[in-house]
Amino acid sequence: MKKQLQSILIISFLTACAQTTKVEAEATLYDDEALMKHIKTLSSDKFEGRKTGTEGNKKAQDYIVSQFKSLNVKPFDSKFKHNFEFARRDKTFDATNILGFVKGVEFSDKYIVVSAHYDHLGKQDGKIYNGADDDASGVAALFAFAEMLKKNPPKHSIVLAAFDAEELSLQGAKYFVDKIKDVNIVANINMDMISRSSKNELYVVELNLR
Ligand SMILES: [Zn+2]
Repeated sequence: MKKQLQSILIISFLTACAQTTKVEAEATLYDDEALMKHIKTLSSDKFEGRKTGTEGNKKAQDYIVSQFKSLNVKPFDSKFKHNFEFARRDKTFDATNILGFVKGVEFSDKYIVVSAHYDHLGKQDGKIYNGADDDASGVAALFAFAEMLKKNPPKHSIVLAAFDAEELSLQGAKYFVDKIKDVNIVANINMDMISRSSKNELYVVELNLR
């Protein structure tokens, strides 16, 4: 059920929103097994819960960049890693958004942003908080989008954004929004915790900000 919903969502995104030139049959849109593999990898102990500013978080950054490269996603604004700094509770943090770019077939000044956050809680009292659902699931879905867009080039350009420091009060998203004030973003699909639901439902919220 959930999978069907996700497929429906993804297909409506591709047809209605991105207005792709050609949408392939549903079965070939993305690789299910790869999707699970990415969730398992990002939430494995090797990534130590991906807390902002840690080695585990940096490993996640490199993993995302390498997946983007292998899926033919280009760097946004000439680089994948967009570093920034922020202060919170008398502490300064270094953080990094990973931004990829898929050029639209009809290159215009309109952009669609598809996003998820890759940081999680890290270690607390010696225990790793792996964050499979929150939000390795959304990052894995970003790769699925990249795979689909590679097969079905979109009409409008798309930014694939993996934000850092969401768990520290949405810092990555705030920095991104601040930086791209002059960019004409017509829609954003943000994916957070999409891999499970006790009711077997996918919860979708539509916000009209204009
Ligand atoms: Zn989250």
